[in-house]
Parts: sequence; structure tokens; C-alpha cells
Amino acid sequence: MNILIIEDEADIVRFLMLELQHEGYSASSCTNGRAGLEKALTGEFDLILLDVMLPELNGIEILRRLRKENSVPVILVTARDTVMEKVNGLDMGANDYITKPFHIEELLARIRMVLRTAEPSSPSSPEGTLSIGDLILTASSRQVTRAGVIIELTKTQYDLLEYLLRNRDIVLSRDQILSHVWGYEYAGNSNVVDVYVRYLRNRIHDSDEIKIIETIRGIGYVLRDKTRKE
Ligand code: CA
Repeated sequence: MNILIIEDEADIVRFLMLELQHEGYSASSCTNGRAGLEKALTGEFDLILLDVMLPELNGIEILRRLRKENSVPVILVTARDTVMEKVNGLDMGANDYITKPFHIEELLARIRMVLRTAEPSSPSSPEGTLSIGDLILTASSRQVTRAGVIIELTKTQYDLLEYLLRNRDIVLSRDQILSHVWGYEYAGNSNVVDVYVRYLRNRIHDSDEIKIIETIRGIGYVLRDKTRKE
């Protein structure tokens, strides 16, 4: 897997190159936007880590031009408090985004996820079906079952569950959950997330023995399959 880093901060580039190579990826970098776009357009890369604030050409503009040509997976790297950038980036076709400063483990998990979902087809899961343990979500019909029994969910509960399932094993902050499930106008009112996670846990019969939705204190939530053998 060949990853292109378009980032102008030398320290971050050095760090990312080392970490990615350590994980077995090949990594190249570009420190200005115009050269980055040219390199991205060569089609040699499986994934692009794209900083937003860049000299010469910003990340959003790079993404806009790139998407006219191809659908190479892009993870946008945004600075703090730039909600509009995230919105623009996702509208413009970014596959995911991560906010600086980030933990490398989170970035690596997002890279794995984006590469996995970008694969043309995965034979193990029928199209549009997400599952964890005996909980199965069918996206086309918005139906959720657990151990074969249909679970009725409200639109928001369903959206929340789908978002958690699509990001399994990735710790999601309350703000990330808010902006994906509720939209950006709710930014800052993150206790609504806690309330809905509680509803959802009740609905899907999340028990203490096998907890599917895990609380990460002070951060947010992660969905993990505890029934799976390591
Ligand atoms: Ca930058």
C-alpha cells in the first residue's frame, strides 16, 4: 500500500513517514499544495493524507481538483475548530478526516478502515450489511436485528448505531459523533450523545457481560466486538 502525505509541517511529515513505514506502508510526501496535487494525480497512490492549510494550493482545492479525475481515498487532516473545512472536505468527497493534534493509533485505524471500505468488494459481507457479534444492520432497508430478532430504532438511534458500526474499533469523540449524526448545528451540545447512547444500549440489549458500546471516559465511545477471539 502506497500512501502520499501532503503536509507542509516538516516535523509531522517526518513522524508520519516513520510511523507509516513502521506499519509496512510505503510513504511519500509533498510539502506544498501544487506539487502535492500533481503527485496525487499520478494515480500511484492507494491513499492520500491531505493537510488542509498548505502553501500554494489548499487541501480543499486539491481535493476538488482530484475528485474530477479519480476517487483515490483521501483522509483530510484539519486543524482545530475548522468545522467548515470538515464540511467542505466531506462534501468535496473526502473519505474521512482527522483533527490535529491526533494520536497516531487513531490515524492508523482510520487508514485501515478507509483502505478496507475502498476495496472494490469484500466477499465476507454482503453489500450494505454491517454486523458485530449477533447484531446485524442492513443499510438498504435500515433494519437492525440481534440474534435474529428485529429491533425497532428511531432514525437518530439507527444513524448513531450505523456510524458506530462503520467505525468499529475506532474511538469516536462526542463531537465527531455529534457532527456526523446530528449535524454541525448541534456542535458543543455533546450530552445529547450520552443520552442517545443510553437509549441505544437499552434498545440493543447491550449488557455488562458483553458490552458492545464501550465508554471511553472523557473522550467518547467505541464499538468493539468482545465476543471475537483475539
Ligand atoms: Ca499545514
